[in-house]
Amino acid sequence: MKETDTKFLESAFKKYYFEHFDLIHVPQRTSEREFGYQKFNSGMTRHISVKDDKELHLLLMQNVPSDVYCSNAYYSFPNLPMNEKDWKEADLIFDIDAKDLNLSCRSNHTISICNECNQISKNSDQCSKCNSTKLEKKSLPCKNCIDASKTEVLKLSEILINDFSINKNDIQIFFSGNEGFHIYVYDSQFQQSGSRERSELVDYIMFNGAIPEKFGMKKFKPNRNSFPDFNESGWRGRFSKYVYGSKSKRSKIISELLVNGYSSFQKTLDDVSEKIGTKIDPNVTMDIHRIFRLPGSINSKSGLTKILCQDLEKFDAYSDSCFISEESVEIVANCPIEFKLKNKKFGPFNNEKVSVPTFAAVYMICKKLATIA
Ligand SMILES: [Zn+2]
Ligand SMILES: [Zn+2]
Repeated sequence: MKETDTKFLESAFKKYYFEHFDLIHVPQRTSEREFGYQKFNSGMTRHISVKDDKELHLLLMQNVPSDVYCSNAYYSFPNLPMNEKDWKEADLIFDIDAKDLNLSCRSNHTISICNECNQISKNSDQCSKCNSTKLEKKSLPCKNCIDASKTEVLKLSEILINDFSINKNDIQIFFSGNEGFHIYVYDSQFQQSGSRERSELVDYIMFNGAIPEKFGMKKFKPNRNSFPDFNESGWRGRFSKYVYGSKSKRSKIISELLVNGYSSFQKTLDDVSEKIGTKIDPNVTMDIHRIFRLPGSINSKSGLTKILCQDLEKFDAYSDSCFISEESVEIVANCPIEFKLKNKKFGPFNNEKVSVPTFAAVYMICKKLATIA
């Protein structure tokens, strides 16, 4: 990134951190957490401990990081190297990202930036100018991406609450600042679980690796009475609703499943996983040593804030997370796709000089689709 662009982003981020200290807080049990941050055009600084909000705010003002992170884990010595930290426990974290949802809208708002000649083209596998295949893809997610991600968040919450008796108030949902949601679960039965148990939880939530026998199907002499009933709880109930469709069709569909046989039943389970399994990023939940974007901090992939969603249904991602100033700034924008921020439409821009509000300039510069004029 050009130095003028970095300077511009730093000053916009600094202004945000100065004016919005109210949005950025250290998490509970601060002194047991590991913090980390990244500056523009530089590597990650990790293994930091922070005492309180005041110290965090000081760190932000002094370093003006591009990204700030904090562990979901609690350690005795968070600022020591990983193997000396003495891991105690970790909040449960889930990541739901529009890019993992195979949405058809995605190709409409993905841009390819050529690593060789910087040519920008709409979603393609080859540079339109130099034919290079070394392309960096940038997505400008749309409302459909956010709505589909919200649906996954609701599916996840339903499973956590109904199948694991997690209290609704112990679940916090954050917009990641780019194209998805981070879900935090506090004080659950998994608090002290390691990676393996968390990976089993992930399989359960995604409905991966389900065994036909658990859903009534057997290789030899299956019994139709052991197939799930329509109103059962957990995955047997979800299976029923998806596969039978309605109570009245149960008997007929079970007959069909029995005729089709065991290996076909395995395919039905795979289909259930694909269609109604919750699409979370397994690695995020399994990693118990990771540092995650800090709530209230800016995501440098977009210039938007990672922010708590009080009301998921009403949450307007590209308006409610945008806190950068309105002040007009001149940029050269090369953004072939229209996008919407704070209910205003921008673009498409064809390598042209334009005046836009700072928040839109920050968004495009973060996406490498504009540069300060
Ligand atoms: Zn090229
Ligand atoms: Zn989309």
